[in-house]
Amino acid sequence: MKKTFPLVLAVFAIALIGIFSRPSGYLADLWPANSLILGLMLRNPQLARSGFWLWSGLAMVVADLITGSSVIKALVLNTGNIFSVMAGLIVARRWRLALYPVKDVVDVLSIAPVALAAAVAAGLFGMYANPLLFDGSVADGFTYWLVTEFVNYVVFLPLFIVAPAFSALSSGAIKACLARMNLLSLLPGVSVIALCLLAMTISGPGVIAVPLIGLLWCAFAYSVFSTALITLVYCVWTLISLSNGYIDPDQQISYWLNVISLRVTVAMVALVPIILSCYIHCNRSRLRDLEYASNHDELTGTLTRRALYNLVQGEDEQPESMTLLMIDLDHFKSINDNHGHPVGDRVLKHFVEIARRCLRPDDAFCRMGGEEFMVVLRDLPADGANRVAARIRASFEESPLILESGELIDATVSIGVAVRYSDEDDFDALAIKADRALYEAKQSGRNRIIHFAD
Ligand code: GH3
Ligand code: MG
Ligand code: MG
Repeated sequence: MKKTFPLVLAVFAIALIGIFSRPSGYLADLWPANSLILGLMLRNPQLARSGFWLWSGLAMVVADLITGSSVIKALVLNTGNIFSVMAGLIVARRWRLALYPVKDVVDVLSIAPVALAAAVAAGLFGMYANPLLFDGSVADGFTYWLVTEFVNYVVFLPLFIVAPAFSALSSGAIKACLARMNLLSLLPGVSVIALCLLAMTISGPGVIAVPLIGLLWCAFAYSVFSTALITLVYCVWTLISLSNGYIDPDQQISYWLNVISLRVTVAMVALVPIILSCYIHCNRSRLRDLEYASNHDELTGTLTRRALYNLVQGEDEQPESMTLLMIDLDHFKSINDNHGHPVGDRVLKHFVEIARRCLRPDDAFCRMGGEEFMVVLRDLPADGANRVAARIRASFEESPLILESGELIDATVSIGVAVRYSDEDDFDALAIKADRALYEAKQSGRNRIIHFAD
């Protein structure tokens, strides 16, 4: 209960917001509470197995009662709400629709069938509730409940699905977010506001889609959550404006089918930027993964040879000093032969861990291939670079890999060092020198450091 209490409180607060939005008009029957409950349960399946059902239902009933609803109305309407959330959850579970975390655009598209199932359940409930509470017809109850709930889920559920977890909202993260903000970065959001205002000056059924271009800009410029939030603002504003005549679709709002059509149009327009935003961010994150994979060695996580060359040769300014360490594990073949290839792999990883501890975070560390590594030390005087090489050699010799059986795998490295003395020394020439020094280290007995000398 301790953990769910803030969530129940959030349901209560959001139910109040929904209740206060009701007088804003016929079209804007906004009810975010169901989407919040469903979103929370999709994100945290354990909630669905707890008393959260009861507590959230109770929170909505209390919100209704303190704002003047009759007991019977509060009980009936909120039983319908819980019934609708259950249907959405059952469909998500039954077809294993992985809405959270959003990893693919399919995850966001899954919102549509889940919203539809929850809306149909609400429609079925409306067939009973409409005649009972509002003296309406069974058919109207079905259509009204279904459409209203469908729009509500489509508009609110994406936001609760992509919202960052509370635990991710550290003050550091918020500060970093604010630091990224500048006047230029606000433009896409401002364009949505400008287009919403523009829509007020023109009329016709197309006005609803006027802000879409600004929303698409947001999808390219912002995170999925920010896009979902701005899209929600667009939806709420448009529905309220349509109800109150701030924007004029040239349709008779009193005509029932027009109300349904306008609501569904707003919901469909809202899905476009959210789907696009998810598509863009999923692709960007795949691209980042691919970029990482092409620049890093899979086994050790060090840079690949190409990535190291790109890094060093792509620098605009040459560093004041540069020292290259060419490192090769000694008699590594015999480790493979005696203990097997997997242990050989572990020795490679073990070496990289130890060597990293001897390096600065910005030092370039690359696996040239097999059991051969290269370190590029920039802006470090020669004696500092020598100390780094000495520390790597000694630390590795002194820290054998310990197997689960308790067996120690001793290994050593030989290191060839080449220092750049003038700008004429290009990187390739330096690498050849370090390689020659390494060869000498091997020839003269291994487990040692040799400096290249002309
Ligand atoms: P030296 O002291 O002269 O460097 O001898 P060495 O045995 O270390 O060198 P050699 O070139 O004869 O053998 C290198 C071995 O490294 C051969 C190869 O099978 C092994 N090797 C290369 N890549 C990997 C790898 O990713 N994992 C494992 N376990 N072994 C690898
Ligand atoms: Mg070797
Ligand atoms: Mg080798």
